[in-house]
Amino acid sequence: MTGGVKAGWRAVGGPPVEWDSEYLDLVRFGDPRYQELIQDLLTRKYGQGRRPVDMVIPVFPAAINFFLTHNKNILPGVPVVICGQLAGAHPNVSVDPLVTGTAMTIFSWDNTPLVLKLHPGTRRLVCVVGCGNLDRKIEALANDTVKAHPVNVEVAYLSDFSFKDLGEKIAALPPDTVVICLTTTRDNQGNPTLPRDAVAMVAQAAKVPVYSLWENVLGEGIVGGYLIRFEEVARKTGEMAARILKGARPENLPPVLVSGVPMFDWRQLRRWGISESRLPPGSIVRFREITLWEEHGGKIIAVILLLACQSLLIAALLIQRTRRRQAELEARQRRDELAHVSRVATVGELTSSLTHELNQPLTAIVTNAQAGLRFLLRETPDVMEVAEALREIAKDGKRSGEIMHRLRNLLKKSEIDQAPVDLNAVVREVAALVQADFAAAGVALTLDLARDLPLIMGDRIQLEQVVLNLLANGLEALKDLSGNVRTVQVITRKEDDGGVGLTVRDSGPGLSPEIRSRLFEPFFTSKARGMGLGLAVGKSIIEAHGGRIWAEPQQDGGAAFRFRLPAAGEQENEPA
Ligand code: ADP
Repeated sequence: MTGGVKAGWRAVGGPPVEWDSEYLDLVRFGDPRYQELIQDLLTRKYGQGRRPVDMVIPVFPAAINFFLTHNKNILPGVPVVICGQLAGAHPNVSVDPLVTGTAMTIFSWDNTPLVLKLHPGTRRLVCVVGCGNLDRKIEALANDTVKAHPVNVEVAYLSDFSFKDLGEKIAALPPDTVVICLTTTRDNQGNPTLPRDAVAMVAQAAKVPVYSLWENVLGEGIVGGYLIRFEEVARKTGEMAARILKGARPENLPPVLVSGVPMFDWRQLRRWGISESRLPPGSIVRFREITLWEEHGGKIIAVILLLACQSLLIAALLIQRTRRRQAELEARQRRDELAHVSRVATVGELTSSLTHELNQPLTAIVTNAQAGLRFLLRETPDVMEVAEALREIAKDGKRSGEIMHRLRNLLKKSEIDQAPVDLNAVVREVAALVQADFAAAGVALTLDLARDLPLIMGDRIQLEQVVLNLLANGLEALKDLSGNVRTVQVITRKEDDGGVGLTVRDSGPGLSPEIRSRLFEPFFTSKARGMGLGLAVGKSIIEAHGGRIWAEPQQDGGAAFRFRLPAAGEQENEPA
């Protein structure tokens, strides 16, 4: 209450003052002897100017009555601003010109029709009221009010109870009853209690709706009612006190009447099925249980949106992944096709090798067949020579067959094949294929192959294609150069890290920076009839084998192409 009084005081610009609080405890110890002692104590503390007092503010009926009776002895001439006098329909303030203040309409007439309206089947109102002095006064006020406004339901007062049997009595009330807790400071045995605890006891035991008069018991299980707000009473008192200190005369400030405000407990409204639309206008509903949606609606929407976005993102990523896989598949098919085309082109360029390779055994076959014939047609056929010629024919036929087989393999469009491959064997095979072209162009092809070369895992045909292209490029670079030493060298080495390295170097014009930066781009060519695919395809083949290919300038001119492949068992990722 003091807080409320001070707030009202400050609200109307009351000057700074010292506030002394005295707790009289008159409700519990209200006998005349005790009152005398208190009067004596206060007189000694404050009387005769010992501690100058500007104003006394007694709070609630017991203290108010005490001061209205004894103030003339304690602090004569000091104005009294009473806080929370009991009032029926009208404030019941003393006619003393030094006294004014606030009064509370305890049992507002509004309460009864409100209860009957909210509970239409009600046949009985039971007012629970204690046996203390204050309780009796409030009961009398309520009784006056009800008498002044008769209702056609039974109104009963339940005051003859001890706290021990109160719960039982309340629980036994018939269903068409509504309980109104007035105030309970003592039971019929004279046991004191806090009014709030008594209301809680009643509300807990009741099987019917319980109403009350005070805001401070809302939340203890009552439905509500026109409730007196102590805070408001205190604030209005503080305002009056400040005005008086600033010079207003108490007799010119008529007492202020504070009435109850319709207030309800949301949980109890739900319990008794009372719709808020039936409450009086301006009703205050407390203890509303905010639904998850009401409290976190924004966050819920945000989370839903987030989840939706996430789902969309996941869907988009899945679609993207599917598309990427599709694209990878297509790219691989295209690469295989390109590899095939490039192989056909390279083999096409090496026609002289092929013709030579095939011509040689075919010519030998023809020569041997003619020689055989001659040996047969002699007068004395030389069977041994014929047999030798036939053996040679068979050998050359077999050799042509092998060439055809090798060519067919090279030209066959195939998916990558995983098998252990000896890179030296690859080099020898390709060298055999191109040997005649090199010879025809007067270019020396030398092989420097490591003995301890580990096997690699991969597709022999594809690797042959890479080497074939590197050799064809070397030969191409040297073709039109004359005078110089014209060599292409193939070197294989076991690398320090266990991998396998291959270098093809030539004594050609080398690589200009411009060409070098674009070597591996598809369709980059500096040749009139070039396709610009050989190196690009070679790069994709080497990378698909988990390796790396690059070009290096040589100190003494010419170009060097190198690739490195992991040895079998060294590969971390399976080649695509
Ligand atoms: P293409 O041989 O059809 O042009 P490549 O991809 O095999 O396609 O080669 C691309 C280009 O790289 C060639 O056109 C040439 O300019 C250059 N190049 C490749 N190898 C050599 C080399 N040994 N010396 C000089 N230039 C080379």
